Amino acid sequence: MVRNATVPRSVADDRSRIQSSARRVQCLDGQSASLRDAKRRGCSDTKTLSRAGRPNKGIETPAEYSVNARVIFLLPYLLGLGPGWQVYNRQAVEGRVRLLILSDIHSNIEALQACLLAAPEYDVVVNLGDIVGYGANPNEAVERSRRLGGYVVRGNHDKAASGIMDLGDFNPLAGMAALWTRNQLSEENVEWLRQLPRGPIHIPELPQAQFVHGSPADEDEYLVTADDAIESLSSVSVPLTFFGHSHLQGAFTSYPGGEGSLRPVYASVGRAEVVDWTLEEHRHYLINPGSVGQPRDGDWRAAFATFDSERKIVTFNRVPYDLKAAQDRILAANLPPRLATRLSAGR
Ligand code: ZN
Repeated sequence: MVRNATVPRSVADDRSRIQSSARRVQCLDGQSASLRDAKRRGCSDTKTLSRAGRPNKGIETPAEYSVNARVIFLLPYLLGLGPGWQVYNRQAVEGRVRLLILSDIHSNIEALQACLLAAPEYDVVVNLGDIVGYGANPNEAVERSRRLGGYVVRGNHDKAASGIMDLGDFNPLAGMAALWTRNQLSEENVEWLRQLPRGPIHIPELPQAQFVHGSPADEDEYLVTADDAIESLSSVSVPLTFFGHSHLQGAFTSYPGGEGSLRPVYASVGRAEVVDWTLEEHRHYLINPGSVGQPRDGDWRAAFATFDSERKIVTFNRVPYDLKAAQDRILAANLPPRLATRLSAGR
């Protein structure tokens, strides 16, 4: 069953302010403008304004432009493009889908709760796996994920904790945490983890996308660098792939004649922030929402992403959470102290 997130009024109000401010851009000549005005003025490059109306440092390879659904619908016919491209744009014609994308929760219930509180309204939640492992609340993380409904892909830690993957491939730290997690999980939760599907999965609400834990070719493969991503991008059958596993928020893209990578750059490492990124036509994307419960990009804040199929916007989110509570639980459980200290370092 798919649930809508309950957002307290104050948070919801805040979000609508954020989204309207984020739709303005700042040309690199310093002038702030709407996206449409920026295009009309021929700004060659733009950066998105942050939730507080102050400029984020933006995205390393900014590429903002507004999308007109009518133009999207007609363009493939005008350009004589094939049916695959039309599938990509079906949502723009048939209706809007708003995704909440969570990944790598890693038994960090404090971080998960902070993400759900900060998330805007959504239609479908997709969980990219590694619900357990490392953190001290595996049963709570599983049960909260189950209650959210939507779609879930299995991760390597979910396989290890439910006994369908050997621990031989794990480093000692991860192996110790996986054994501890196995002993903590209820039978029902182990069984639920065991039946999770291997990625990639496809969902009827967004046929132009697929969802994996590691990579489209191998659920356990890490996509960290652009070189890692190129092969995947050249072989994908749909324009959009959402993936996790690396715990690094950002994206890879390919287009006729080139490819690139990007990561959202935030104005702080302390407060809740969002960075909007508008997708372009004729590109393939690999998008990582970041890790809810154990980020490894040097930013301790919990990470997640949303995607609006009508506006073609991916919104990267970072939210502070009760870090000390998560660390105290790890220490109280006699898990390796490094699993607590790495959370504050974001590594
Ligand atoms: Zn993970």
